[in-house]
Amino acid sequence: MQTPRQSLVVSIHDVSPLTQAVVHTMLADLADAGVSRTSLLVVPDHHKKAPVAHDASFCRELRNLVSCGHEVVLHGYYHLRPPKQTTLLKSLITEHYTAGEGEFFDLSQEEAAERLAKAKREFAENGLHPVGFIAPAWLLGAEAEAAVKDAGFQYTTRLQTFKDLATGREDLSQSLVWSVRAAWRRIISLGWNAYLLNRLGENPLVRIGLHPPDWSHPAIRRQVLRIVRATLAAREPITYEGWLHRARV
Ligand SMILES: [Zn+2]
Repeated sequence: MQTPRQSLVVSIHDVSPLTQAVVHTMLADLADAGVSRTSLLVVPDHHKKAPVAHDASFCRELRNLVSCGHEVVLHGYYHLRPPKQTTLLKSLITEHYTAGEGEFFDLSQEEAAERLAKAKREFAENGLHPVGFIAPAWLLGAEAEAAVKDAGFQYTTRLQTFKDLATGREDLSQSLVWSVRAAWRRIISLGWNAYLLNRLGENPLVRIGLHPPDWSHPAIRRQVLRIVRATLAAREPITYEGWLHRARV
């Protein structure tokens, strides 16, 4: 198999009418740094407060971004995990690690299929045709993954992998991601991401996963843009969809 050229995928999580303004700023800063192609992880009805299908101007903006080379990726449906009877381990993972946002972590296959079908229909009615699905907080349970594959999505990602759902091929590449909920998390994030970037070295794919709150913290914003600029010396910025095509060659 031919080794793909070295690539950089920058993704922005939690894109919705609730985060539209800060996402504008992020896209402008990234374009200044040399990245004018990103994977935009769009939430169809963010926290049940922002139905994308009812927001014509938001949909128009997404279509414009796609026509400029960005990609729309489906990112959950509500981005909320309802409290359920659960095991201690599950609640540790979903409540403490992700602040209760792991929507697709323990959905049944049927529940997941319903949400995916609704999202696909609403997006298609607005001219949006995502080929990838990424679960909120990257927490995708086995039943939900089967539903994602059945719904025709071509790929998904987790924190450490990119998976081609058609072939089952997984590419190992841990995403850089910043945790900004507390000061100590921000300090650890700065050191961890510098280390991780170094460790990724010659990996064909480097992934940078951004969240809108990252941009409220100047030290994080500066580090992200510095890493982006440094990485672009040896890598081409592409979308996950672009990586999928490259990896299938
Ligand atoms: Zn998210």
